[in-house]
Amino acid sequence: MRDFQFKKNRLLCEGVDLEKIARKEGTPVFVYSRKSLLGRFNEIKDAFKEIDPLVCYSMKANSNLSICRLLVKAGAGLDIVSGGELFRAKKIRVSLNKIVYASVGKTDDEIRDALGSGILFFNVESVAELKRINIIAKSLNRKQKVAIRINPDVDAKTHHYITTATKQNKFGIDIKTTNNIFLSYAKKLKNVDICAIHMHIGSQIETVNPFVQAVKKSVALIDDLNSKGACITHLNIGGGLGIIYKDEKPQTAGQYAKAILPILKNKGLKLILEPGRFIAGNSGVLLTKIIYVKDTHVKRFYIIDAAMNDLLRPSFYKAYHEIIPVKKTKGGKKKSADIVGAVCESGDFLAKQRLLPDNLKQNDILAVMSTGAYGFSMSSNYNSRKRAAEVLVNGKKYQLIRIRESYGDLIRNEIVANV
Ligand code: PLP
Repeated sequence: MRDFQFKKNRLLCEGVDLEKIARKEGTPVFVYSRKSLLGRFNEIKDAFKEIDPLVCYSMKANSNLSICRLLVKAGAGLDIVSGGELFRAKKIRVSLNKIVYASVGKTDDEIRDALGSGILFFNVESVAELKRINIIAKSLNRKQKVAIRINPDVDAKTHHYITTATKQNKFGIDIKTTNNIFLSYAKKLKNVDICAIHMHIGSQIETVNPFVQAVKKSVALIDDLNSKGACITHLNIGGGLGIIYKDEKPQTAGQYAKAILPILKNKGLKLILEPGRFIAGNSGVLLTKIIYVKDTHVKRFYIIDAAMNDLLRPSFYKAYHEIIPVKKTKGGKKKSADIVGAVCESGDFLAKQRLLPDNLKQNDILAVMSTGAYGFSMSSNYNSRKRAAEVLVNGKKYQLIRIRESYGDLIRNEIVANV
């Protein structure tokens, strides 16, 4: 996390002291680095620049409007998965023809809305969906470009909750059925132009091998289909690039491109990428305050004002996030502790058995690192907790990009029935 560094024993984001943000804006608060977000976006775009890819930032990683706007202004398209994400995309004035839309369960309303908006591709995940898109496109007198999301059946060797391309997963269409779509439906369905192949094999993938296998399968399929009369012009290889949370050594953007580009050589395909975590993950931290230090006979707990509703990944995936005090103190021993929230679940923890300075006390601020992706976007109001504020740092300044929720927000759409 290059843009989050200690200077004079205080943790800064770019040029801003994180403790100052925490004291001024309150906690929990997510803090993102503009420089890091843009840096990561440019890393991946530049790695593939010889073929001028379309990089569609995967909004689900972090869909804050300011963050998406920042990336869109830098040239990104967007990968969306719902009508809600399309709504967000429209708010930030993205070119709609730079939007790709995946999801196994697009509803008629969502399809109609996206079709009417003029998105680039639907990434189609079933034959039933393909037929629906065709019917709706016909009713709107449109011909819509679609990609078939194939399930290349490769094991991405990542957490089973974020593996998406084995036969056991709900995502995509197997190769045999894809062949059948081109043979049986491509000509029949007059209102769809099936001109792309899409794949996304999982997330937090640390080695290039699974990507290479899957891209090779996709390209072989495209060659075969095109030789039989199809006209496939685009290949979307999804997202999935892993990042460093602890001591992982994931492939760099350069290594990734170096492995993928030769497979695409002379194929004349337009490449689309959908990175999410790679761009946002190491670009953000979650700041939280210690509410209580609780020593039991067996262990120490730091009870903090963030919880699983703010950051679900540790509870959900047993994910590791480094947790560090924003102020370094001299000397002091380390002591193992569990860092837990106030939610009424034993699964509510941000870390277990972590070595932290044993002199930490109430009101101290901790930074939960690498929480820029799948942090706020997976947060909830469980236990009627208000969702956190978000801040974007730019050099020595910062801006609030989401106001902390109020209690009023919690009940905004509820109706007290006449009971
Ligand atoms: N594309 C699709 C279709 C996805 O489902 C996801 C994540 O689930 C992504 C891209 C982004 O993945 P990552 O954040 O690992 O880059």
